[in-house]
Amino acid sequence: MLVLMQDWPLLCHRVIDHAATHHANRMVVSRSVEGPTHTTNYAGIRARALKVAQRLDRDGIRLGDRVATLAWNTWRHLEAWYGIMGVGAIYHTVNPRLFADQIVWIINHAEDRIVLTDLTFVPLLEKLADKLPTVERYIVLTDAAHMPPTALRNAVAYETWIAEADGDFAWKSFDENTAAGMCYTSGTTGNPKGVVYSHRSNILLALTANEPDAFGLSSRDIVMPVVPLFHANGWSIAFSAPIAGASLVMPGMKLDGASIHEMLTAYRVSCTAAVPTIWLMLLQHLEATGGALPYLKRVVIGGSACPRAMAQKFENIYGVQVIHAWGMTEMSPLGSLCTLKPEYASLTGDAKLDVLVKQGHPPFMIEMKIEDDAGRRLPWDGKSSGRLMVRGPTVARAYYKDDSDILDAEGFFDTGDVATMDPYGYMQITDRSKDVIKSGGEWISSIELENLAVGHPKVAEAAVIGVRHPKWDERPLLVLVMKKGESIGKNDILDYMRGKVANWWIPDDVVFVDEIPHTATGKIQKTTLRERFKDYRLPTA
Ligand code: AMP
Repeated sequence: MLVLMQDWPLLCHRVIDHAATHHANRMVVSRSVEGPTHTTNYAGIRARALKVAQRLDRDGIRLGDRVATLAWNTWRHLEAWYGIMGVGAIYHTVNPRLFADQIVWIINHAEDRIVLTDLTFVPLLEKLADKLPTVERYIVLTDAAHMPPTALRNAVAYETWIAEADGDFAWKSFDENTAAGMCYTSGTTGNPKGVVYSHRSNILLALTANEPDAFGLSSRDIVMPVVPLFHANGWSIAFSAPIAGASLVMPGMKLDGASIHEMLTAYRVSCTAAVPTIWLMLLQHLEATGGALPYLKRVVIGGSACPRAMAQKFENIYGVQVIHAWGMTEMSPLGSLCTLKPEYASLTGDAKLDVLVKQGHPPFMIEMKIEDDAGRRLPWDGKSSGRLMVRGPTVARAYYKDDSDILDAEGFFDTGDVATMDPYGYMQITDRSKDVIKSGGEWISSIELENLAVGHPKVAEAAVIGVRHPKWDERPLLVLVMKKGESIGKNDILDYMRGKVANWWIPDDVVFVDEIPHTATGKIQKTTLRERFKDYRLPTA
C-alpha cells in the first residue's frame, strides 16, 4: 500500500521559514567582528537570507555549487548559511585555524566558487588567493564603511552585495537528499577528508539535538553556540535553535573567558556549548574574578573529554548541568550525550560525577557497537573496551571524491575511538585508537590519566603520550602546563594520581612545558607531542 501522507521534503530553509513565522521576534544577538553588538531576530535573518539566495542566484550559483565560509559565529554567517542552502548550493565551512596549506587544499578539493570571509581572514586569503583558481569572488562579511582595500578577486562588502537584492525570491526546491553542507575533518594524518551533509540529515540531527535528553532546547531558551559553525557542522545548533524557536547569542571572534562570561551574563544565556579548552578559560576567569553563572542552566561539553574537575565545578560550584557530548564531523556531529537515565538519576556526589564524565548514551537514530580487533562484538559491561562503531542516517557513508569503503559489512562506520559501554548503554571513550598507550600488551587510557592530572588545583592542562620503553613497549609520559605562577614537583603530581587508577598506569615521568599544542578544533595535538618526545629517555628505561 502506498503512503497517504504528504510529501514534504526535509529542506533546511523550511527551518528558517518556521522560525520566522512562529518565533519571528526571538532575538539573534551577535558580537560583531567590527566590535559593537548587533541585534536582529529570526524574521530578520530569514529576510536577509533570502537576499543572499537571490544574490547568489544572480551570480550564477546553482544547485550543488560550493560556497565557502571562513567566518566566526555571527548573524551574517547564519544568514549566509540559509541563503546558500536556499538556492540548493552547499555551505562549506572552512576552519581558519587550519594550516594555510590545508586551507588551500580544502578549498581546491571542494572547488569552492565563492568565499565569504570575515574581515579577520582577508589578509590570510590575500596570501592564498593565487593558489585558489576556482574562487570567482570574495565576499567580505562587513559593510562598505569597514571594507578594506583589497585585491581579492571581485571582492565586495557583504552589505553592499545584498543591498543589490530586494529579497523578492522563492527558495529553490529539490530532493531532501540534496547536499546542503560540507565540512572537512581536521585530519591529523594525511589530507583532510570531506564530509557532505544533506538537507535531510541536517534536519534529522537537529530534531535529535532538541530532545530532552540532548540539548533539550525550547522557545524559552537562550542559546550561545561558542563552538564555531566551522567545527563539525556547528554541532547542529544553527538548525536546532531555530527549529525550537530558541534565541541565539553569537559570540563572534572573542572566545576568552572574560568575553564569554560577559555574553553569558548580559544576554542571560540558558544553554551553551563548546570544547573543554573554552570552558577551562571561563572557569579560570570565574575563579580569578569571583564571577558567577546565575542564568546558565546547561553547558554542553564535547570535542574532547570533559575532565572530572570541570564537571565538578560546573555542577557543584556554579549550579550548571553538565551535558558531556561526543561526536565527530562524520556524524553531523552528535553521537552521544550524557544525561541521567532513571537508573542513575538519584546519584549524587562522586558517584554522579563518575557518570557525567562518560560520553553518554546515543539518541534515537544512532546505533552503536564495540568490537575487538578481530571484529567480535564486546559485552556492555563497562569494562571491555574496543573499537567504537556507529550507524545511522546522520553518519557519513563515504568521503567526498574518495572511493574507499568506510563501512563494515553491517554498515557501521569505525569512529577510530576506543570505548566501553556499560549495562545501561552509556558509552565511555577510553582513547583515540592511535593514542592508546600499549604497555606490556595491556592498554592504558591516556584520556583517563589526563583528566586525573588536570584535577590537581595547580595544573592548567595535561597530556599523556606513550613513550618507547625497552621492556614494556610503551609507558606513559605526563606532559604538564601549570597555572600561572604555580609550580609542583614531579612526585607531588604522581602521588596525587596514585590510588585513583591502577598502579601500573601511573606515568613513568613528568615533563613541564609552557604550552601544549592544539589542533584547529582545540584538541590536544598528540602527533606533535609524540614527535617532540620520540627520543625521550624514561628514567625507568
Ligand atoms: P571532530 O570530527 O574534529 O569533531 O573530532 C571527532 C573526535 O573528537 C572523536 O572521534 C573523538 O576522538 C574526539 N571527541 C569528540 N568528543 C569527545 C568527547 N566528549 N570525549 C572524548 N573525545 C571526544
